[in-house]
Amino acid sequence: MQIESDCVLKFLEVVAARIKEQRDYLTELDAAIGDADHGVNLDRGFSAVMSKLPTLTGRDIGSILRTVGTTLVSTVGGASGPLYGTAFIRAGAATADRFQLSSYELAHALEAALQGVEARGKATRGEKTMVDAIAPFVETMKEGIEADEDPLIALRKAVAACEEGMRATIPMRATRGRASYLGERSIGHQDSGATSACLMARALLDVVEGRDAG
Ligand code: ADP
Ligand code: MG
Repeated sequence: MQIESDCVLKFLEVVAARIKEQRDYLTELDAAIGDADHGVNLDRGFSAVMSKLPTLTGRDIGSILRTVGTTLVSTVGGASGPLYGTAFIRAGAATADRFQLSSYELAHALEAALQGVEARGKATRGEKTMVDAIAPFVETMKEGIEADEDPLIALRKAVAACEEGMRATIPMRATRGRASYLGERSIGHQDSGATSACLMARALLDVVEGRDAG
C-alpha cells in the first residue's frame, strides 16, 4: 500500500463532501449534549480547505497536511478546530517533504495525529471524546503494520475498531469538553467528535480501496 499526494487530495475531497452531507447529523449529535455546532463548524473548515485545494496540487504530503491543519485551526472554531487542526499539523510534520507514504509511514503519521489531539485536549480514552474513536483506530493500524499484516486488512480492522470506539461513547459519561457540563445527562448519546473522526477514517479506507465516489 502506497499513499501518494493525489490520494491525500482525494481523501480531503471525500471528507469535505461527506461532512457536507452529514453536517446536520453531526450537529444534531452535538445538540443533544453540546451546543449544536459540530457539523456546521467542520463544514466551514473543510469548505475552506476545499477552496485551497488548487494551490495544494503537486505539493508534498507534509505541506498539504500542514495547510489543512492551519486552515482548520483558523476557520473551524470550537474545541474541534484546534484539535483536528493540531492532528493535521502533526501528521504534516511527520510527512514533511514526502510525496509517497509506505504503510509504515502512514501508521506513523496517524500516531503523530493522535498524539497531537491528546496533547492539545488532554483527554484520555473513556472521557467521551474523539479520542475514543481515534485511539483504537491508530493503535489497531499500528499493531497490524508492526505485525506485518497486509496493510489494507490492517486499515479495515482499524476502521472497524474506530467505529466500535465511536459506538462505545454512547453509554459513557463525558468528563471532557462541553458535554462534561451535563454530567450524568451526557449518558446515552453518541459523541459528535468521535462520529466525525470515524467519518474521516472511513473516507481514508474508501479512498485507498478506490471506493471514493463521495
Ligand atoms: P465545541 O464543543 O467547542 O462546540 P465542537 O462542537 O466543534 O466544539 O466539537 C465537539 C467535539 O470535540 C466533542 O464531541 C468531542 O469529541 C471533542 N472534544 C471536546 N473537547 C475535547 C478534548 N478536550 N479532547 C478531545 N476531544 C474533545
Ligand atoms: Mg459544539
